[in-house]
Amino acid sequence: MDFNLSSMGSSPKAPAEPVHVKVLILGSGPAGLSAALYAARADLNPVVLAGMDLGGQVALTYTVENYPGFPEGVSGPDLVNLFQKQAERFGAKVEFDTATEVDLSQRPFRVKTYNGEYLAETLIISTGATPTRLGVPGENKLTGRGVSFCATCDGWFFKGKNVIVVGGGDSAIEESLFLTRYADSVTVVHRRDELRAGAILQKRAFAEPKIKFIWNSVVTDIHGESKVESVTLKNVITQDTTEMPVDGVFIFIGHTPNTQLFTGQLEMDDQNYLVSDKRMRTNVEGVFACGESADPVFRQVITSAGMGAAAAIQANHFLDAQEMDAETATAIS
Ligand SMILES: Cc1cc2nc3c(=O)[nH]c(=O)nc-3n(C[C@H](O)[C@H](O)[C@H](O)COP(=O)(O)OP(=O)(O)OC[C@H]3O[C@@H](n4cnc5c(N)ncnc54)[C@H](O)[C@@H]3O)c2cc1C
Repeated sequence: MDFNLSSMGSSPKAPAEPVHVKVLILGSGPAGLSAALYAARADLNPVVLAGMDLGGQVALTYTVENYPGFPEGVSGPDLVNLFQKQAERFGAKVEFDTATEVDLSQRPFRVKTYNGEYLAETLIISTGATPTRLGVPGENKLTGRGVSFCATCDGWFFKGKNVIVVGGGDSAIEESLFLTRYADSVTVVHRRDELRAGAILQKRAFAEPKIKFIWNSVVTDIHGESKVESVTLKNVITQDTTEMPVDGVFIFIGHTPNTQLFTGQLEMDDQNYLVSDKRMRTNVEGVFACGESADPVFRQVITSAGMGAAAAIQANHFLDAQEMDAETATAIS
């Protein structure tokens, strides 16, 4: 990975005083870095806290073929590196630090980090989400090499191939149906003997000749050196194991939004995604939420980047309005 770390506050010492900024952005994935670009171009000198995963989920992606402007595709790390460079060119500062505590009860918002503390006039939350992993051998090594968490992103690579889908909920079945456009066969491996997905989806899946089901089974191993070659399946009732040759393993067993930090302070839906309106505003004035931390539906680089841009535009409007209110108050008094 070729990230530019030169500007990434490497000092382990906590700043003596909290750093006061107009725009603080939590997260360095596509949403955070796009917000940084727009906020920097609005002359707001944004600071981005990169978090533990510099570049976000896309930095784990071997090739991104659905982000416009790259007709030949682009590696995930290269794409976010370009995002970062572009934001920095206009004055955004990316710090290698993580928010550990927030106080949104008054402005400026107080954000504690491993290295210090910030006072932020506006806060843009782009902390993303984490796809739930199986936690089996081979999964990490082969992610982006046949193991995928996104059919929209990677389905194209499996034209004429045989894939399995792990899961039994709506996402698993929707994505299985989508994968039948490309793959020769899609085998749904589910640990129970019935699906959790909605009735209409189930009906469509059972009627689709390319989709097969393996019930009461889990994946215990994913095999392959440079790409997925096979999986070991275990029947949870008989405990029998079998090895099944496959080209791809799509895992849809859930996503967890990285929003624990905001519990009790920001409105969330029943799955803990932040609730933001069309202008990315949360229930706290001056706090904006964008990207996958607030999006259980689209989960793409382009949609996350778009939400990030919108959040920064809105943060700029918010700061302008605050300034105008202050000027009016001064003129009246
Ligand atoms: C393997 C894989 C392949 C994918 N392939 C594609 C693809 O080909 N095309 C596509 O469009 N999409 C793809 N996606 C989806 C895409 O990566 C995501 O939709 C996108 O990255 C979401 O962007 P985001 O900025 O909202 O969040 P994320 O990318 O999840 O970034 C979240 C950021 O927040 C930071 N963070 C978290 N907590 C804190 C904190 N407390 N303080 C500071 N920072 C914090 C993290 O370090 C990270 O930098 C893929 C996803 C995966 C997992």
